[in-house]
Amino acid sequence: MERRPGTSSSSADIHAPTRQPTFVTSMARSETKGFSPANQPPNQTRAIGTALLPWYRAHRRDLPWRQTRDPYAIWVSEVMLQQTQVETARPYYARWLARFPDIAALAAASESEVLLLWQGLGYYSRARRLLAGAQAVAEKHGGALPESVDELLRLPGIGPYSAGAIASIAFNQEVPLVDGNVVRVITRLFGLHGDPTRAPLKSRIWELAAQLIVKGHARDFNQALMELGATLCTPQKPLCLTCPVRGSCEAARRGLTQILPELPKRQPPTQVAMLAAFIVKRGRYLVYKVPDSAPRWAGMWQFPNIELEPAESPRHALSRLGKEQLGLKLLLGEHVSRLQHSVTRYRITLDVYDCAVQETEKKGEVKRRLETRWCLPKALAGVPMPAVHQKLAGIVMGRANRRC
Ligand code: SF4
Repeated sequence: MERRPGTSSSSADIHAPTRQPTFVTSMARSETKGFSPANQPPNQTRAIGTALLPWYRAHRRDLPWRQTRDPYAIWVSEVMLQQTQVETARPYYARWLARFPDIAALAAASESEVLLLWQGLGYYSRARRLLAGAQAVAEKHGGALPESVDELLRLPGIGPYSAGAIASIAFNQEVPLVDGNVVRVITRLFGLHGDPTRAPLKSRIWELAAQLIVKGHARDFNQALMELGATLCTPQKPLCLTCPVRGSCEAARRGLTQILPELPKRQPPTQVAMLAAFIVKRGRYLVYKVPDSAPRWAGMWQFPNIELEPAESPRHALSRLGKEQLGLKLLLGEHVSRLQHSVTRYRITLDVYDCAVQETEKKGEVKRRLETRWCLPKALAGVPMPAVHQKLAGIVMGRANRRC
């Protein structure tokens, strides 16, 4: 999952190409409808760069990661900005650099500490990838990020977008980067039809992003493209009248701004019913670690939970939860709370119950199918949990405080 959809582009579901030794892939231009770069006059390309650079330097937002040339800090910011709004990322960026000021500090951290610091930012695999990347840089590159895209791409957790961002923004190398904002700007500038998440248009956009770079100014130019997409060339109502490249824009000229980019339709949300269990033993609550093989939240901790089958009763679901995951026979207690939350396209209704342990399959011990822990309520604050389970931990801690 290597993408940076852009700060204003929640709808841009754009994936960068899979790892490849070079950013620019050849293709049959006739495969893609729309404006051909072969037909693009060089002075038009120059006009875009000439107009965009001064606009960016005059109007760019004052962001903390723009005040540094430290490749590590730029890497951290670019990973945080994948799937996250700028204002949400700000405090996390500051806290992260205060705790892990350089690659050596991050490489020495535990996964649990890294996930705890990332807690609330979502898409936790990003934090795990940063950690894995830092460990590889510490081991193979003496703690300094390499400058070349090819070497960056060999590191775990760094894909084409991050490699392009680090190489161009930190080292001013003339290599492109493509995120959701860049996709939107380029498809509109060149009037490109087709699905930008798939070949051949996906490669075509990388090719154009490379061609547009103003020699000697890759750092600012790449950021200018993203800034344009984040602030003026927005998904719904682009501010074309104030756009510095309006004179070169096919979409503005042909009235295509509401049509481009032609992103695939999102799947409708799916409703899911789940049950979570507060299983208490001598004042301690049972939580477990999400296995590394899980598709999401790997390494985070959760209260036991299970998805209900159609028309299944909570009692039956709890019985399955105990049997399939924990090796416990559980008794359903009081309904505690109902929480609504979303994970990707799933709209989840989570009903939380107090539960009692009737017996274990192996006497006295929870089965070791999962890594489990019995936590005192106050200790839950030190356990990395996804947002909805943090809310459950808040309920538990609130109860404990009321009893004090
Ligand atoms: S003119 Fe409008 S559509 Fe074209 S790049 Fe500028 S903001 Fe985007």
